[in-house]
Amino acid sequence: MADYGFNTLAVHAGAQPDPATGARATPIYQTTAFVFEDADHAAALFNLQVFGNVYTRLMNPTTAVLEERVAALENGRAGLACASGHSAQLLTFHTLMSPGDEFVAARQLYGGSVNQFNQSFAKFDWRVKWADTTNPDSFKAQITDKTKAIYAESIANPGGLITDIEALAKIAHDAGVPLIIDNTLASPYLIRPIEWGADIVLHSATKFLGGHGNSMAGVIVDGGKFDWGSGKFPTLSEPSPSYHGMRMWETFGDMAFAITTRVFALRDLGPALSPMNAFLVLTGTETLPLRMQRHCDNALTVAKWLKANPKVEWVNYAGLPDNPSYKLHQKYCPKGAGSVFTFGLKGGYEAGIRLVNSVKLFSHVANIGDTRSLIIHPASTTHRQLADEDRAKAGAGNDVVRLSIGIEDSADIIADLEQALA
Ligand SMILES: *Cc1c(COP(=O)(O)O)cnc(C)c1O
Repeated sequence: MADYGFNTLAVHAGAQPDPATGARATPIYQTTAFVFEDADHAAALFNLQVFGNVYTRLMNPTTAVLEERVAALENGRAGLACASGHSAQLLTFHTLMSPGDEFVAARQLYGGSVNQFNQSFAKFDWRVKWADTTNPDSFKAQITDKTKAIYAESIANPGGLITDIEALAKIAHDAGVPLIIDNTLASPYLIRPIEWGADIVLHSATKFLGGHGNSMAGVIVDGGKFDWGSGKFPTLSEPSPSYHGMRMWETFGDMAFAITTRVFALRDLGPALSPMNAFLVLTGTETLPLRMQRHCDNALTVAKWLKANPKVEWVNYAGLPDNPSYKLHQKYCPKGAGSVFTFGLKGGYEAGIRLVNSVKLFSHVANIGDTRSLIIHPASTTHRQLADEDRAKAGAGNDVVRLSIGIEDSADIIADLEQALA
C-alpha cells in the first residue's frame, strides 16, 4: 500500500474484501467478543504473543481498518482509534505521564483542550505549561527535567494560525521528548506532521476525517521513530506488571507507543470506539481529499469576500496574503489553509448575535468540519462565562465570529452571509 498515492490510500488503505463473505465495503463487526480457537490461543492472545480480536474495548475488525487507514494517510507506523478526540488526548498522555510530570502546550488550542489540560489533567497531577505558537522559543523556555512532551495543533482552532512544526520538533527532540500534533483542522490531506518531525499525531475524527457531522471518534497515530529508551517514559521502557514483566519498547520497537496505549490506556480507561462509528468515519475518509480541497477553496473565496465587506472589521484566514501565517501556510499546506477561520464585525457583540440569528444556510452549532457550513459567535456561547478581557485573550472577543466553511456552492454560502449581514 505504501507506494500508492494519497487519493488511492484514502479509498483502500487497510481494507480488503471481507474474507468471510466477500463483502466489498468493510462490514460493521457489531460484536462485543470474539471466539478463541482453543485455550492455548486464548493464553497467547492474553500474553500479547499473538495479535487478534478478543473484546471490542481493545480491538475490533472494523475499527482496525480505520486505524490502518489513518496511519497510512499520515505516513505513520500504526494507529489507534477511540471514542473521541478528547479521549485520544487522554490516552496519549496516560502513556507518557506520571503524577508530577509536565508538558508544554501551545496556548492557541481548541477551547476544550485548554479545559482538559488545565482542569481534568490536574486531577492526575499532570501539569501543563503554556507557550506561544507564534514564538517557538517560548516552548524551549518552559522545558524542565519533568517535561514529557510538546503539544500543538497544526492549524489552531479557532484562530486558524499555522504552527511551525519543524521548529517545535527540533526543540522537542533536543529535550528528548516527543512532539504531539493535533492535526484535526488540517487533516493529512493538507499537512502530514510526521514528515515534518512530529512523533505522535492526534485527530478528532469527529471533524474532517469523518467529515459529515454524524459521529464522534478519535485517532492516535504513532510515527514509529521516537526512541523511548531514555528512562523518561517508564510505561514504555520498564517491566510491566500486567504482562509478566514485558518491556513494551524492547518487545514492540517502532510500534511500542501505539501498542502500549492500546493495551494499557485504552484497556484500563475504556473509551472504545463503537464499530458503527468506525464504519461511518471510515466511509468519510474515502472522500477526504475531495472534500478538503472544496472546503479550502470555498473558505478562501468566502474570506476574500468578507474582507471586502464594509461591515467586517478584520478577517483572520491564513490563506490571505497579508495574514501573519501566510508564509507558514505556503510552507506547510500550500493546497489550502483549512476551512475554519474567524472574522470581526464592526457592530461588536450585538452584531454577532444578529448574524447567527439571521443565517439560513449556515447552522449555528458548536462544531466544525462538517460538509455543511457552520457558524458560531464564541462570546455569546462557548466563551460566555469569561470576562471581556479574558475572552479577548482567548481569541473570542465580543466581535469575533467563527466559521467552518462547508462544501456547498460558495455563491450560496456568500449569499447567506450577505443577507444575514444586511
Ligand atoms: C473538536 C476538537 C477536539 C476534541 O475532539 P472531540 O472529538 O470533540 O472529543 C480536539 N482538538 C480539536 C482541534 C478539535 O477541533
